[in-house]
Amino acid sequence: MVLIILFLCAYIVPSIVLNFLQITHIKSALKTKAILLDSLDYKKAGNYALENLMLDTIQKCVEFGLFVFWVVFGLSFFWQWLQEIGLNGAWHHIAFLLLLLLIPLLVTLPLSFYQTFSIDKRYGFCKQSVGLFFIDLLKTSLLSIILGGVIFYVLLWVMDSFSFWWLGGFVLMFGVVVVANAIYPTLIAPLFNKFTPLEDTELKSRIEELLDKVGFKSNGIFVMDASKRDGRLNAYFGGIGRTKRVVLFDTLLEKISKDGLLAILGHELGHFKHKDILKNLATTGVFLFALFFLAAHLPESFFAQASLPQESTTTLALIFLLSSVISFWFLPLVGYFSRKAEYRADAFGATLSSKQCLANALVRLINENKSFPSSHWLYICFYYSHPPLLERLRALDYEI
Ligand SMILES: [Zn+2]
Repeated sequence: MVLIILFLCAYIVPSIVLNFLQITHIKSALKTKAILLDSLDYKKAGNYALENLMLDTIQKCVEFGLFVFWVVFGLSFFWQWLQEIGLNGAWHHIAFLLLLLLIPLLVTLPLSFYQTFSIDKRYGFCKQSVGLFFIDLLKTSLLSIILGGVIFYVLLWVMDSFSFWWLGGFVLMFGVVVVANAIYPTLIAPLFNKFTPLEDTELKSRIEELLDKVGFKSNGIFVMDASKRDGRLNAYFGGIGRTKRVVLFDTLLEKISKDGLLAILGHELGHFKHKDILKNLATTGVFLFALFFLAAHLPESFFAQASLPQESTTTLALIFLLSSVISFWFLPLVGYFSRKAEYRADAFGATLSSKQCLANALVRLINENKSFPSSHWLYICFYYSHPPLLERLRALDYEI
């Protein structure tokens, strides 16, 4: 019972309260004069945000239901059932942990389907077919089974072989995160999207000039076929070390001027200049450390409540179930540093283009992505990795 109350009071209730604060804020903002967007788009952006918040609230209730299911019945049932069907040793343990990963994916499937093919479709973002949606799901599940299986195998071995198992587990998982970041752009992302080298030679040489100015060594500028799924615009620098590449969404190339695009890349280069990618990795390290430390100090009563024996696999299962609670309380801290980093990246980006140019590009982005320009302060505090656009524009001396 304590486990369920903890999950409810420390995660589900506060996140639903945050959603309602944000819903009330947006509803009252919709009654005032439109800012940054024309009045029709302002209304559309507000309604889009409201529908997503309602859906997220339902999702939180489903998450709670699922948590209760696991603790009251699911964990002990699957633990025994997998043994009864003849799995033993490492196979039993790995299959148990994989079920814990895959079942939530299936349970929340109707919600993500509704988000993509109802909400996103109505607001003009969704460009993908139902077939592609299921192919993505299949690929994600297979990837989780293969990579998850291997990682769980090594992790359980570490946990069973060392006396300071939680420290060993932390080092291993942190290593996995670093490797995942390094291989993502070249090995994982191409499983889902096509990346083609940028063909526009004029734009390419302007981007290269910009990268040279900052000392950014990339292994290429690529265009990603994002438009096969979603109409929103974006660009990012993926990878670490030698695998770094510049990725531009095809939607961005289509809908933004070259000056605007260079201004956005200038902002991204600010993150590179300030080593924000490494700082983000370090933050993930702190989170993982906290997670493993808590795993080592889980009260025995938690295992009894879930009718599970106390051992490495069940410890991982419980800490996995509790990780949403822990990450929820990490959000304000991570968000605070992230928003500070965004201001710094804006300031740096503005020195490469100009304040006006970057501000115009940001306004263009929220217009295309239909982001609602105003939020409740507590919601910002938890969920915003970027400062609200109004604040960013003010910092760039933009006339609103
Ligand atoms: Zn940024």
